[in-house]
Amino acid sequence: MSATLGIAGAGLAGRLLALAMAERGWDVTLFDQDAPDGTRSTTYAGAGMLAPGCELEKAEAEIARYGLQSLPLWKELLARYGPTVYHGFTGSLVVAHPRDQRELQQLQRKVEQRAAESGVVQSVSASRLAELEPALAGRFRNGLFFPVEAHIDNRAWLDALREALCARPVAWHTSTPVARVAPHRLVTAQGDAHAFDWAVDCRGLGARTDLPALRGVRGELLYLHAPEVTLSRPVRLMHPRYPIYIVPRPDHVYLVGATAIESDDLGPITVRSVLELLSAAYSVHSGFAEARVIETVTHCRPAFPDNKPRLLYGDGLLHVNGLYRHGFLIAPALIQFARQYLETGSIPAAAQPIMEAYPV
Ligand SMILES: Cc1cc2nc3c(=O)[nH]c(=O)nc-3n(C[C@H](O)[C@H](O)[C@H](O)COP(=O)(O)OP(=O)(O)OC[C@H]3O[C@@H](n4cnc5c(N)ncnc54)[C@H](O)[C@@H]3O)c2cc1C
Repeated sequence: MSATLGIAGAGLAGRLLALAMAERGWDVTLFDQDAPDGTRSTTYAGAGMLAPGCELEKAEAEIARYGLQSLPLWKELLARYGPTVYHGFTGSLVVAHPRDQRELQQLQRKVEQRAAESGVVQSVSASRLAELEPALAGRFRNGLFFPVEAHIDNRAWLDALREALCARPVAWHTSTPVARVAPHRLVTAQGDAHAFDWAVDCRGLGARTDLPALRGVRGELLYLHAPEVTLSRPVRLMHPRYPIYIVPRPDHVYLVGATAIESDDLGPITVRSVLELLSAAYSVHSGFAEARVIETVTHCRPAFPDNKPRLLYGDGLLHVNGLYRHGFLIAPALIQFARQYLETGSIPAAAQPIMEAYPV
C-alpha cells in the first residue's frame, strides 16, 4: 500500500510538494482555505524573481546556495508542468542614479565577497547596458549584470500547478480551512480529523498558531501596463530604503515592487508606497509616465526572526515555512529536501542549516 500524505496549504510549497510526492506514487490529499486559483496566497502576490545574486545584499549565504541549486530544477519543472508559462533565464540588471553610485559599488563588493562561485555579478558599461536592454540606452552610466538570474510569471505558474495536480490522483479539499496540523493528523476548522502517515504544514502565515515565531513582512507592488517601455529582464534600481525592481510580463505589463515593511497589515497599498514605486519606475524610464496602473497588490511574506526558511520535523509531521522573500528562488531545493526526508527519514546534508526537530 502506498504511503499517505496530508498537506495543509496549497501555495507554492504545498503544490510543489503534492506533485513531487504524487509523482512518486504517494497517496496525497491537499487542503486549502482558498479556491484552486490560489488568489489569497502569498505566491499569487509575489513577483516571481529568481535572484540568488541580488538577494545576497541582505540574505544569508544559504539562500543563494539553495537558489543556485533551484535554478536547474526550475528549468525541469517548467519543461514538465508549465512549458507555456512566461519565464526568462536572461539574467537581471541593477542600475543606480548618480547619487546612489556608492550603494551600487557596495552591492557589487558584497555579492563578490559572499557568493560561493565567481561570475554571479558583472560590472557593465553604459554601452553593454544598452546592448542588454536597448530601452535603457543613455539613461545610466553603468550597472551590474547578474547573468544566471531568472524570472517567472507566478500567477501562470500557480495555474500550471493546479492543472498538473488536477490531472493526477490527488484529492484536493478547497475552501477548507485547517485548524490544526499534528503528527499524522490534520484537523479542519469544521472539526473533521483526517489521519495520514505524514502530515505536512505549508500554510505560510496561516500556521502562526502552531509556529508563534512566524511574522509577516508586508510587501506592496503595482501592475503597470506600459506600451512605451520594452524591457526583457528584471531591472532593479538602488534605493535608500529597499531595492525597487521592475519585472516584465508579456504584452508590456510590468510589476513594480516591492516594499518590505515589518507589519502583518494586509490592508490596501499606502500613498507613500505608490509614490515611491511610481517615481522609481519613472526615473528608470520616462515611458512609464503614460503607463496605466492596472492593479495594486499587498501581501505579507511568512518569515522567521532570522529570515531563513525552516523544515521543522517530528514524528509523522513536517512544517515547510518561513520562505520570506525567497519562496520562488528556493522552493525547488526545499521541496527536494522535504521529499528526501519523507522518503528516507534522514536529513539531507545540504538541508542541515534549516532543519530542526519540532517541537524544539
Ligand atoms: C510582494 C511580494 C513579492 C515577492 N516577490 C518574490 C520574488 O520575486 N521572488 C521570490 O522568490 N519570492 C518572492 N516573494 C515571496 C514568495 O511569494 C513567498 O515566499 C512564497 O509565495 C511563500 O509560499 P508558501 O507556499 O510558503 O505560502 P503561501 O503562498 O502563502 O501559501 C500558503 C497557503 O496556505 C493556505 N492557508 C493558510 N492558512 C490556512 C488554513 N488555516 N487552512 C488551510 N489553508 C490555509 C493559503 O490559502 C495559501 O494557499 C514575494 C512576496 C511578496 C508578498
